[in-house]
Amino acid sequence: MNNGVKQIAVIGSGVAGLTATHILQRKHHVTLIEKSERIGGHTNTVRLPDGPDAGTPVDTGFIVMNHRNYPLFTKLLDQLEVDLRDSDMSFGYHDIPSGLAILWVRIGWSFRSAEKSDFAGLSSYGS
Ligand SMILES: Cc1cc2nc3c(=O)[nH]c(=O)nc-3n(C[C@H](O)[C@H](O)[C@H](O)COP(=O)(O)OP(=O)(O)OC[C@H]3O[C@@H](n4cnc5c(N)ncnc54)[C@H](O)[C@@H]3O)c2cc1C
Repeated sequence: MNNGVKQIAVIGSGVAGLTATHILQRKHHVTLIEKSERIGGHTNTVRLPDGPDAGTPVDTGFIVMNHRNYPLFTKLLDQLEVDLRDSDMSFGYHDIPSGLAILWVRIGWSFRSAEKSDFAGLSSYGS
């Protein structure tokens, strides 16, 4: 008698696959299958390879996280005893060939065509 224990294969080790595996393995035998050499899928932290901010870690998967919009993710982090820390949020994108710049700081979105010099004063957009 296997007491309802099933053999389950989960394809992909992104946050969806890892979470499914984490929950299902409490009752079942789970095999997680991943095609790439590292787990995590889109969720990853990379370090800037060069430039003035070389070495700065940048999260590519989860940039926004708050309790109101992410109740289940909050619950998962609680279960995993992951510490959380408040942070300010900003976002900047600059397409050098077209000169298009998109900035987001606490005051909201700003879409504009920007010169390099605009970025020098970026901190002045924050509040
Ligand atoms: C720029 C950007 C910013 C984001 N910011 C946020 C944010 O702030 N907050 C938020 O909640 N979400 C954010 N997201 C969305 C979030 O990152 C994704 O929704 C989430 O990571 C997707 O997870 P997933 O497990 O569904 O897929 P993925 O992370 O894509 O994982 C899929 C995995 O399956 C593997 N795989 C695929 N095919 C096979 C196969 N045939 N066999 C074996 N393995 C396979 C892949 O290699 C990969 O590891 C952002 C996304 C982007 C692009």
